[in-house]
Amino acid sequence: MNEPAYLTYFRALCAIPHGSGQTRDVSDFCVAFAKAHGLDCAQDEYNNVVIRKPASEGYEDHPTVVLQGHLDMVCEKDADCPIDMTQEPLCLCFDGDKLYAKGTTLGGDDGIAVAYALAILADDSIEHPALEVLLTTDEEIGMIGANALDPALITGRTLINMDSEEEGILLAGCAGGAHILLRMPITREHCAGKRYSLRVTGLPGGHSGTEINMGHANADYVLADALRLLAKHEGFALLSMEGGTKDNAIPRQACAVFLLQDDDAFVAETLAALEIDEKKLYPADKDLRFIWQSETDDEADALDDVSTGRFLDLLAQLPNGVQAMSAYDASLVQTSLNLGILKIDKDSVQITISVRSSINAERDALLRVIESCADAARATAQVGGLYPGWEFKQDSRLRDVMCHAFETCYGKLPKVQTIHAGLECGLFCNMWEDLDCISMGPNMYDIHTPRESLSLASAARTWHYLLEVLKNL
Ligand SMILES: [Zn+2]
Repeated sequence: MNEPAYLTYFRALCAIPHGSGQTRDVSDFCVAFAKAHGLDCAQDEYNNVVIRKPASEGYEDHPTVVLQGHLDMVCEKDADCPIDMTQEPLCLCFDGDKLYAKGTTLGGDDGIAVAYALAILADDSIEHPALEVLLTTDEEIGMIGANALDPALITGRTLINMDSEEEGILLAGCAGGAHILLRMPITREHCAGKRYSLRVTGLPGGHSGTEINMGHANADYVLADALRLLAKHEGFALLSMEGGTKDNAIPRQACAVFLLQDDDAFVAETLAALEIDEKKLYPADKDLRFIWQSETDDEADALDDVSTGRFLDLLAQLPNGVQAMSAYDASLVQTSLNLGILKIDKDSVQITISVRSSINAERDALLRVIESCADAARATAQVGGLYPGWEFKQDSRLRDVMCHAFETCYGKLPKVQTIHAGLECGLFCNMWEDLDCISMGPNMYDIHTPRESLSLASAARTWHYLLEVLKNL
């Protein structure tokens, strides 16, 4: 068996449970590896690991290169999979070009980065400048390890992040972000009428960053539009509304309950006409449906007119979706926001919005716009989870070397892109201002799902490409 060394290390990693929040063992494994190979190593209380290796002969005066990946993986499994991912090894399967784990996520994201790094460190025949291998923890649950990293542990200012999933694409920028919670106090008054429930359904949703430009409707906004029309009718009184469960997902469903004078025909006509219009507005959402039910006459404490007006005005004024495209590449989103969670409880409306931008100043400006909308609605706004973006740099020696090496290996140039989602590179660029970095990786499919797989041929090509890059840095 002539298995490449990185695959052997990958197997070893898969034998150690290493879901987010459970990285002690895999971190210790890397420390033991360093000791066994006589390499300098540091481990912190977050289980981050840094392993250093001196330059190979002839590279002593080249700048130090940081190879980086994260140790934790997302643990997802099929409903009928018996494996306990906190205790048991993954069950690796080879199927043609695909490597996957039976019934579970594979953790190719980001185990392949760790495997590459260890294989490079272990092999004294590879040519490279001085190396610092930086293995972080809990990337998948908020980049906790990278956030807590002591910047003094790393001296290199050239960093290759191996946490991307598409061969042939070099990422050279990513979004930063924040979430913002709006809380609008409401006043309720006793009302009577026929009780209606209304649901918006059939929307595909999607990731609030990478899929924000797919043209899908946000269920909360569609429902608010319907309520705006229904509120024109006499006796409309809103009791509740709810839509969305995560700030980083576009809401697929939303529902509202309200009182109205008994007029099913008005509701039916209004919603039927609106459904047609909304489908024209969102041609990608053919399955969008309004599902409504009228129930019995009821009495309840509904939002008073002022609160209802403020609430619907707030939703009408809040920006949503893509706000700016990149000046470098018109196909890339630069700034966006997503209203992810909305709910109305007894005495307030609560709205959680996630904001993303690759330009920190633009993210902050957008937060100010949202705050101003909140002010107008007499709502409070609380910003949290602020993380920095990684701005595309006009000049990058690393990018030049990586593009050139790509041409040598593949006979064509790679695509250089930015991504509208967070990467640890954003934190690192903020930590070390003069950092030059690129994110790359082999082809992986369906990451974060039990269908996750890694292309073995792509992993082999990427390995040789990585060695070519190191030789030229
Ligand atoms: Zn990852």
